[in-house]
Amino acid sequence: MKDTVLVALAGNPNSGKTTLFNALTGLHHHVGNYPGVTVEKREGIRKQGAVDYHFVDLPGIYGLTAYSVDEVVARDFLLEEKPDVIINVLDSTNLERSLYTCLQFQELGIPVIGALNMSDEAEAQGIRINVTTLSSTLGIPFVKTVGSKGIGLEELCAAIEHADTNKQTKTIHYGSEVESQIQSLQTLLESDSDFVTHYPARFFAIKLLEKDNNVLEHLKKHPKAEQIKAAARQSIQWIEKHFGKYSEIIVSEQRYGYIHGAVVESVDTVKKPDFLITENIDKVIMNRFLALPIFVLVLWTVFQLTFAIGDYPMQWLETLFSWISDVLNEAIPSELEHVRSLIVDGIIAGVGGVLSFVPLIVILFFLLSLLEDLGYMARAAFATDKILHSFGLHGQSVFPMMLGFGCSVPAILASRTLKNPRDRILTVLITPLMSCGAKLPVHVLLAAAFFPEHAPTVVMILYAVGVVLSLLCALLLKKTVLRGDPTPFVMELPPYRAPTFKGLMWHVWEKTIAYVKKAGTIILASAILIWVITTFPQYELSGDEVAGFESAYLSENPDASADEIEAARETFKGTVALEQSYAGRLGHAIQPLFRPLGFDWKLATASVTGFAAKEVIVSTLGILYRVGTEEDEESIGLRESLAHDPALSPLVAFVFMLFTLIIPPCFAALATVKAEIGWKWLCFELVFLLVLGFVLGTLVYQIGRLI
Ligand code: GDP
Ligand code: MG
Repeated sequence: MKDTVLVALAGNPNSGKTTLFNALTGLHHHVGNYPGVTVEKREGIRKQGAVDYHFVDLPGIYGLTAYSVDEVVARDFLLEEKPDVIINVLDSTNLERSLYTCLQFQELGIPVIGALNMSDEAEAQGIRINVTTLSSTLGIPFVKTVGSKGIGLEELCAAIEHADTNKQTKTIHYGSEVESQIQSLQTLLESDSDFVTHYPARFFAIKLLEKDNNVLEHLKKHPKAEQIKAAARQSIQWIEKHFGKYSEIIVSEQRYGYIHGAVVESVDTVKKPDFLITENIDKVIMNRFLALPIFVLVLWTVFQLTFAIGDYPMQWLETLFSWISDVLNEAIPSELEHVRSLIVDGIIAGVGGVLSFVPLIVILFFLLSLLEDLGYMARAAFATDKILHSFGLHGQSVFPMMLGFGCSVPAILASRTLKNPRDRILTVLITPLMSCGAKLPVHVLLAAAFFPEHAPTVVMILYAVGVVLSLLCALLLKKTVLRGDPTPFVMELPPYRAPTFKGLMWHVWEKTIAYVKKAGTIILASAILIWVITTFPQYELSGDEVAGFESAYLSENPDASADEIEAARETFKGTVALEQSYAGRLGHAIQPLFRPLGFDWKLATASVTGFAAKEVIVSTLGILYRVGTEEDEESIGLRESLAHDPALSPLVAFVFMLFTLIIPPCFAALATVKAEIGWKWLCFELVFLLVLGFVLGTLVYQIGRLI
């Protein structure tokens, strides 16, 4: 035996590969209940005696004819890396479908071990599998396992140890007519000894008869590629003429027939009535008419709960940060005024503002993960698939889009569950249009200032506009740059499962950390940057300018008290200092660009700083409008200053909210877009959203002015 053995875990999505992988290697990983969640390659090591077993957790696949990214990844790994052993993880409650993949693994000429996972559930459902009969029928060892409880690991490891890499694995017989065609193609393939040491000839011959296009790519390495292709075409023609059916159908019928025989031999099913639970629940939840309303209700409940529960810890955190600011204000001596201002007004205000969102994020993710692990998410995707499909999206896009209400960063990451690259790119591109948690404060502030009677309605309208826009953009992109056949909805509904506490916590932790890390680093940097550009260069008013302001102020407000004059003078000083700062100059310089939208230089400045993070828009406006105000009066004060600014109107405010909703998301989200779909699409996204924001903003402003 070698001293390192490469073991691949492969099988259908949701059969428990990752769970078994974690149990085998002791590494902790994401455990979900959403089919196809594994897209990355996970590797881990288990030492046993003198041997190092390298385990790789492959993406879920339904067969070796690759349609999706996952399937290509998994198959190419098996073909190119040539693991020493394949552990085929099977869902024992769905044996026939699982075995379909198993037969194809056997054709690769690599020893296969069947892990009959979920055997606890199979037993509970009254499915009794005779391991000995199954093993002898299919000619490979089978072991019963329960991945989530670590049962059967010893036997599985023993089977890996005994796997004989030199022995030919038993494969199925496709009937004499098809076999003769396989044989002749196999002979042709074997004419090049280099090729067959690299690729299994029988597997290749069968894939050619199945008209697998990806196999043709690999075939290019064969010197007689053209001749083989022609022979394959002839074989296919012969089979189709002989049977009167497509050759790929003949092949798959043979497999299913064989499997059916094997299952009849080795499986006894005594259906117990209470294991129809999933079916019964689904009769209601997946009912043709109820599915969609139930989905909306579930979604509504999640958001209500999130905000209802999250409000308290959020307030505690805000109190905590303002207490820290107070303490630091006291503690840092006034000689270090800049340092103090940087820490208190820059870092704590910026980073603290974002961190106080963490409780919301934790609760939102907890609830969404709960739904996912229960098995509801797959059903939500099913329920919404029809609607989303008519906009060129996939049912599975619903999950990223929902997360988009919280934060685009995890939402974009969640689009990994989509298998087709086009669907995935499309989902990533439209997700930022969902009104995220950071846009909420901006919308709440402006709605309260300009539509005091109807603030909640205005905020709701913006949410709705986001959803509608994202769907329309999906349609537009699908009709233009992302044209292509719609992917069929191949996703099975997993049975409802009780989530494990550990799994849930891991889920929440993984996502929260991503939010804190990504948002935290970028917010910190941008908070410092914005502090710098709003503070420097420092501008001191001359005595004359101050006196001039005071006399003008007094002539307008002859009854002003000394305190009022003092406050007005401070505000004036602050505003001038800000207008003279880099940020102010920048705002003035770019203001002409924003004229069609009706923005003055202050809104223009806030739009630019908002690029760092949308929350920053509120703090920028705070700095721009009220300098040197008491802490607790700030929010009311800012609202009033906004409402009384003659440069603004309800129309301009609405256009600004709309613009904030549409323009490219924060740096963190953009970095995630880049990481997930690359530079090219990131640039596309930037231009697309900017153009859309400007065009729609201008339209609404100009039409609004006419009315
Ligand atoms: P993968 O898609 O094949 O990687 O599947 P996962 O490892 O993500 O498992 C899917 C779900 O099945 C998770 O909720 C697991 O906790 C659960 N699971 C895994 N193995 C078993 C098992 O043997 N029995 C039961 N009842 N649940 C399992
Ligand atoms: Mg997995």
